[in-house]
Amino acid sequence: MISVIKGDITGLDFDLIVNAANAKFMRGGGVCGAIFSKAGPLLDEYCASLPEGKAGEVRISPAFDLPCKAIIHAVGPIYEGLTKNAQDLASCYWNSVALAYEYMREHELDKVSLAFPCISTGIYGYPHDSACDIAWKTIKKIRSAFPDTKAIDIVFVCYEQVDYELYKKALRSL
Ligand code: ADP
Repeated sequence: MISVIKGDITGLDFDLIVNAANAKFMRGGGVCGAIFSKAGPLLDEYCASLPEGKAGEVRISPAFDLPCKAIIHAVGPIYEGLTKNAQDLASCYWNSVALAYEYMREHELDKVSLAFPCISTGIYGYPHDSACDIAWKTIKKIRSAFPDTKAIDIVFVCYEQVDYELYKKALRSL
């Protein structure tokens, strides 16, 4: 199932939530800041031990004081208006689903829930409409290439009205 909600990702008791991370996996602004604040200082400590990443890469951490079970940290690309950013943004979604699938197998679960924020569309400046397009296309692509990933319930969590409208429209045209 794929769904769209409006709200704050840090309040969700899902299995996995995705953080729009920076390459150092450090506490940042926006959704990243909110996730680190609610998860507590142990998340800072844990993430300090992670090797630095590149745009499109993902890491997993415990959720500490957040109500979800674990956090996938996806390094969003900083928008430069170049076509190469599109591939990196797509990789954030693709690699997050792949990691969620691994998590599901490792924990011997039949299903997991995975919540995405609109990666890169805040401080990193990616245009909302093209980011939404990439998110949907990538999720559809991985689900059709690897049908077992359909056991992952995906929720796009829109914090801003502009994203909520874009994602709802995309959902209607599925
Ligand atoms: P980036 O650096 O990847 O652009 P931001 O956190 O600045 O990350 O923005 C990414 C998206 O996350 C934006 O659409 C922003 O509105 C949204 N956002 C900010 N806070 C939250 C939150 N608590 N829950 C869900 N989404 C959020």
